[in-house]
Amino acid sequence: MNATAAVAAAVVPAAGRGERLGPGAPKALRELGGVPLLVHAVRALTRSRAVGLVVVAAPADGVAEVVALLDSHGLEDKDIRVVAGGSTRQESVRLGLAAIPAEVGIVLVHDAARPLVPVEVVDAVASAVRAGAEAVVPAVPLADTVKRVEPVPGGPEPVLDTPDRATLRAVQTPQGFRRDTLAEVHAKALAEESTAEGAAGTALPPVTDDAGLVERFGGRVVVVPGHEEAFKVTRPLDLVLAEAVLARRRAADAY
Ligand code: C5P
Repeated sequence: MNATAAVAAAVVPAAGRGERLGPGAPKALRELGGVPLLVHAVRALTRSRAVGLVVVAAPADGVAEVVALLDSHGLEDKDIRVVAGGSTRQESVRLGLAAIPAEVGIVLVHDAARPLVPVEVVDAVASAVRAGAEAVVPAVPLADTVKRVEPVPGGPEPVLDTPDRATLRAVQTPQGFRRDTLAEVHAKALAEESTAEGAAGTALPPVTDDAGLVERFGGRVVVVPGHEEAFKVTRPLDLVLAEAVLARRRAADAY
């Protein structure tokens, strides 16, 4: 394996509106400690020596704004490319992946909405791919018991069953992949979508992460330990928690 193949590239899908966070700027551009979530996320990736290139999939009408933003936060000397994202997370990842040079053999996919992922998690995911895994996800055990329900808008919702919590994991990002594996499953998903669109009633269940695509097409995904600080900023309370984590890091002078 040559040096370029050993260094990973990271795709950061950052084109979502983030409506669950409330009205305002696209989620990736919301601020945490005075710095946009996206800048935190990109910095977290560039801190890892395993990552040589970061490709950001920005809102289609916000590419120039995102380039300016990254430059103004001291990231202009890093190898970062910004491309227009798509209308779904999956499309944004696919467009980001297409901008990675062919010789890069390992790709990480990291949500802009996970600004505080520790560098140890990024390193661990990249190392596991380097060691031979085709798809790697960081994950943490669940605190809550989880029930599967028959969804009823407004409820009450009948419970179907209760999976054994000991076998469940909450999955985070960055998720790491052999580049050929990730490109192949995205191409297959795209082909499947165009077929499914024409045939009513054949819609497949939504895949909410990239490892889910690998699973769908029969690939093997392994889990490595994630970190509680790699949580996703989705709702307003998550921003409160993220501010507290950041303040604690700054106080400890670790940031
Ligand atoms: O909405 P959710 O929190 O699941 O989004 C996860 C990540 O995917 C976010 O970083 C968001 O910006 C990104 N995304 C995207 N393109 C979309 C929708 C979401 O890049 N069309």
